[in-house]
Amino acid sequence: MEKLCGLLVFLLMLAVGCAPCHGQNEICIVGSGMGGASVAYFLREYAREPLQISIFEERDRVGGRMSVVELEGDTFEAGASIIHPKNLHAVRFVELLGLNRTSDDGEKTFGIWDGTQFVLQTARAGDSIFSKTITRIMNTVTILWRYGTSLWRMQNYTNDRRAFKSVEGLLKSVDLYNNTQYTREELLPQAGLSRLFIDELVTVTMRINYGQNVSISGLAGGVSLAGAQGGVWAVAGGNWQLADGLIRHANASLSLNHKVLSITTVEDRYLLGSEGGTTTCDAVVLATPMDESNIIFTPSINIVKQHMQHTYTTFVRGLLNPDYFGSTSESILDLIGTKEDSKIPFSSISVHKEYNATDKAYKLFSGAPSSDELLGHIFRTYRSTIRIDWAAYPHYTAPERFSPYVLDGRNLYYINTFESAASAIETAAVSAQNVARLILSRHPEWGLQTPTPKDVSEQDVVEDL
Ligand SMILES: Cc1cc2nc3c(=O)[nH]c(=O)nc-3n(C[C@H](O)[C@H](O)[C@H](O)COP(=O)(O)OP(=O)(O)OC[C@H]3O[C@@H](n4cnc5c(N)ncnc54)[C@H](O)[C@@H]3O)c2cc1C
Repeated sequence: MEKLCGLLVFLLMLAVGCAPCHGQNEICIVGSGMGGASVAYFLREYAREPLQISIFEERDRVGGRMSVVELEGDTFEAGASIIHPKNLHAVRFVELLGLNRTSDDGEKTFGIWDGTQFVLQTARAGDSIFSKTITRIMNTVTILWRYGTSLWRMQNYTNDRRAFKSVEGLLKSVDLYNNTQYTREELLPQAGLSRLFIDELVTVTMRINYGQNVSISGLAGGVSLAGAQGGVWAVAGGNWQLADGLIRHANASLSLNHKVLSITTVEDRYLLGSEGGTTTCDAVVLATPMDESNIIFTPSINIVKQHMQHTYTTFVRGLLNPDYFGSTSESILDLIGTKEDSKIPFSSISVHKEYNATDKAYKLFSGAPSSDELLGHIFRTYRSTIRIDWAAYPHYTAPERFSPYVLDGRNLYYINTFESAASAIETAAVSAQNVARLILSRHPEWGLQTPTPKDVSEQDVVEDL
């Protein structure tokens, strides 16, 4: 019986093709978002031996949660929209790929809505001293907040030579692990902030960036606050181009519309099953959260639950209803954040383009789908909408627990285990870099080149930390 099984496996491998047949080790990546694209890039950069890198993507486009929508001819970021100036990988990738940056430096008016009134409103643009003050307070708070500053230590890892088998190890190496073990709320009193400040400005920031509140674990909360700082930018034309460019740069083979349904361990290799057939891989990198994935693993594997929070993004072209907000002015604020109250049907509304005083493009975030009836209340007029249901990011609670990077002790790797610490374009790249190093350090026969800083700008950013 054992011999028969062995023969069957051998015949199966012959039928589907196997790595030694073409003399290259094949690394298969599930997902073409920032994590999948970055790991392909780093593998190509670090490996001395030629590797066959294959990316499988279930959708018809790359980029995952970096994605744009088109509303009446204008393009807007629908998922990950802002990148922090000190996100070292992203800064380096745009230069490497010859992409351009764009930023919206215009002053915006901002208010906090408590369901019945604005408890805080900044002045109109032009004389927005208040607006500047708020920004300055937020910046100072973030900087004074030692967690905020320690966040940049994560960037030091990019020049580190080590590869970590666990997220705990990686985070401890940059002194950030403890931040994942306490909530932002537990850590806040150490910064000496008032309850009102926490309930209003800090809570609003968490709701806008992660759709959650100050009970979010500390590191994710720090990343969220960092997003409130000035100088954030995006890739002109869409952040998804980072993934697109890295995949091309890595010369990886990309299969779109190719959903991986099963991963089966066969001796020391893996069979990736999909509707189109099977592929044999020497190593598999999972570059997507496993929480809502239906991939069947044989033998089964244990993955720490990462409950994904759904966030609903609604794009609307029209005009907000001043009556809904008790306003006498036609022109309501550019960014409306909300207090934590389950009766308020949205987390934030922001103006993304103003065509004229009565015609604007808005982006609305909410914890539940926004019905036409709701939009009819909030908007005086609206004519087109686009709705997206995102399995957006993990629901963060402290203390966080992490799956190991190597899920089966062999060659099945999981980039998104790091997402339980924080979810962002940059953190996906940091985790992918670690996985690339881990794969190559565990396979000396595939060859690990010592990575070297690539360009001057990288040095600049590191020195700036
Ligand atoms: C609304 C929203 C706003 C955000 N804002 C920001 C922001 O401003 N700044 C920031 O830095 N980050 C932001 N983020 C977070 C950021 O988008 C993510 O952390 C990051 O893009 C995750 O990249 P990833 O590659 O790990 O996962 P993903 O981007 O989710 O990529 C995973 C890919 O795997 C594919 N896939 C899944 N299962 C399979 C399968 N079985 N077979 C084949 N393919 C599969 C998916 O289709 C997807 O393309 C935001 C996220 C959301 C949802």
